[in-house]
This record gives sequence, structure tokens and C-alpha cells, in this order.
Amino acid sequence: MDVSKPDNFKVSLDVIEKTMTGAGPSNYHPRIRQAMSLPVLGHLHTETLKIMDDLKEGIKYLFQTRNSLTFCVSGPGHAALECALTNLIEENDVILIVCSGIWGTRAGNIAKRLNANVKMLYKHVGEQVSLKETRECFRMYKPKIFFMVHGESSTGMIQNNIEDYGNLCREFDCLFIVDCVITLGCTPLFVDKWKIDIAYTGTQKVLNAPPGISPITFSQRAYDKIVMRKSLVKSYNYDAILLGEYWNCFPLRPRIYHHTICSSLLYGLREAIAIFIENGGLEASWEKHGKVTRKFHSILEKNGLQLFIENAENRCPSVTSIKVPDNIDTHKIISYAMNKYKVEIGNGVGMTLGKIFRIGLMGVNCKDELAERVANILIEAIRAIENEKV
Ligand code: PMP
Repeated sequence: MDVSKPDNFKVSLDVIEKTMTGAGPSNYHPRIRQAMSLPVLGHLHTETLKIMDDLKEGIKYLFQTRNSLTFCVSGPGHAALECALTNLIEENDVILIVCSGIWGTRAGNIAKRLNANVKMLYKHVGEQVSLKETRECFRMYKPKIFFMVHGESSTGMIQNNIEDYGNLCREFDCLFIVDCVITLGCTPLFVDKWKIDIAYTGTQKVLNAPPGISPITFSQRAYDKIVMRKSLVKSYNYDAILLGEYWNCFPLRPRIYHHTICSSLLYGLREAIAIFIENGGLEASWEKHGKVTRKFHSILEKNGLQLFIENAENRCPSVTSIKVPDNIDTHKIISYAMNKYKVEIGNGVGMTLGKIFRIGLMGVNCKDELAERVANILIEAIRAIENEKV
């Protein structure tokens, strides 16, 4: 053999259970774990196709849309982001991207690869954009596509007036893409009512489902733009029309084989949506996330910690960002919590790395007891590391 057998596999697989309270993934509900261990099925087996049909209905409910082109991309949230941009962008199309954290930057990176004419509307990290300044950019750039993040997980900020931007996009004949990866299920989102043309999300946050299968929905306007393209969609894997044919989004067209979908991920997501609905659905989840997170914030503030997003209304109810006290090394706090309690405290990311802690209380992890526990562990860790220095 040119390459010999690695010894690594002589040690059996060992995975410990952690409390997943970083910015995601969150813990699975035990039923999701069970569902994912069900037997594998083929990607065109009748039972698989029925699960895919169920999922489409579940996703339409979660997004509050009647869009028929609604399905899951096989891949993480990044794949859904890439799918949204790849289908809409044709060479030299002007895209306006709001950027106040890493997700605007990532969208810009992908758009450049697709040879779009990228215009960035930069805001300070954690700061909301206003409708007025966005309108000015629309006048200046006449974008064909507008991209906005509903919840910026790198800062914990929610852009809580996204419903105002749908009309602006219609006025300028522009398509509206919204990243709802950390907001779907924790705060109101109405894709149809708010005139959003493409919305996508991740499954590993509020839904507590496995990552790797990402819901996305396309409006009729988005569909029209795709079918009117002069050039082929630059990616086979993310071609929304082909994916829509596999997911049976066009009743008059035959179902096609596009790729081999992972049936275990479908089971996990189906069970996650079933649990979400059993627990009262969207309204109950919005209320729970709002209540638990407010309580979490008040414990932190009572103990002298400062939240990174100063205006309470702009704080995302799923991921909380907390300012790192002066002269504290975030890595030490994170290791303390993990080593002693197996509890995840997230670091900042991009511009916020080392400046904030990020804590996600999402889905099954969104409960008062856990909010108190994580807050106490963070406070204990900070005191312990501060005392170490004396
Ligand atoms: N958008 C946002 C707002 C996110 O928080 C994330 C993941 N943290 C993504 C997109 C990308 O998701 P994934 O890591 O599953 O690719």
C-alpha cells in the first residue's frame, strides 16, 4: 500500500454530551436523536418523498408563506445563502448588501464570486440600518437584489423593522433576500406579508434539528427572475428549478433525481417540526424566547455584566451578546465553563472576536433553569479568572 491504514480508528468513537449554548448548533431533543437513527431510505423511495412533502408544508408554515418553490437545500446555512445568491445573480447585476457583522460580509464574498456589481451598505458592528439611508442607496445604485440579515448572530442584533423593506424593494423593482438563520421560530417573520422574495434558515438553531438541511423559499417574483435568466444558474447543486423539480414544487412536472438526499437529516427535521408544532407552534415559541431571554438579560445585568446591544428592542431573542469585561481573555472563560460544566459559551466572531460572549438559548435550550445556570456559570467563570490574576 502507498498509504497504510491509520491507527486512529483503533480507538472507538466517543462523543460526550455538552450543553450547546453557544450561537449554534443547539442540543437535539431526544426524539430527534431517535428519529435520526431510523433506517436509511433511498432518495426516491415513496416514503422519502412523502417526508419531503410533509417538510415542505412544515416549512411553509414556519416561513408563513404559500410559495410553491419552497424546499430544503442539502447543506448548511451557507449553502442556502449561496443558493439564494446564485439563482438571482447574473453577471453585473447590482446587489445592495447591508453589513453590520459577518453575514453581510459573507454575502458580499459570494456575490463577488458570481461577478455581481456589489454595493455594501456598511453599519457599525451591531448597529441597525434605517429605511431612510437604505432608500438613499436604492436611489443611488438602483439595485436588482437587496440582501439583509434578520438576526446577526455575530453581534446578537435583530433588524426588527424588516417588514418595511419589502415595499421599498417593490417600488424599485428589486428582489429582497432575508437571512433568517437565527430568527426563524424565535420572533415574528411573515415572508408573504412582508414581501420577502427569498428567505432561508438553518435547522440547528431554534428548531434543534441537525445542520446540513436548510429550508429556503422563493416568491413568484424570484421564480420569474430565475426562469428569465439569460445564463444558466452557475451551480448545478444549488439550481432552484432543478431542486424544485426534485422536491415536487411544480405539480405538472415530473419529479427528477437531482442528488442523493440524506434521509436521516430529513427524519431529524421532520421530528423537529413535529415537536415545534406540538409545543404550540410559532406564537408559543416567540413568546417563550422573548420571556426567557429577557429574564436571562436581567440576571446578567443585575450581576454587573453589560449587554453588547444597548437598545433592548434590537436584541435578538435567540443569541445574546455580552461585552467582555476589561482585561479578560475570552478563551479562558470559555474553557472554564466547558472543562468544569461541559457548558458552551460562544466567543465573538469576526469583528467581535474576543470582545463579546455569545450565548444561545434556542428551542429546547430556551428555558428559565438553563438561562439561570448559564448566567451563573459565566459569572462564576469571570470571577474565577479575575481572581487568578490577583
Ligand atoms: N447566517 C447566520 C445569521 C448564521 O448565524 C449562520 C450560522 N451561524 C449562517 C448564516 C450559516 O449557517 P451554517 O453555519 O449552518 O452554514
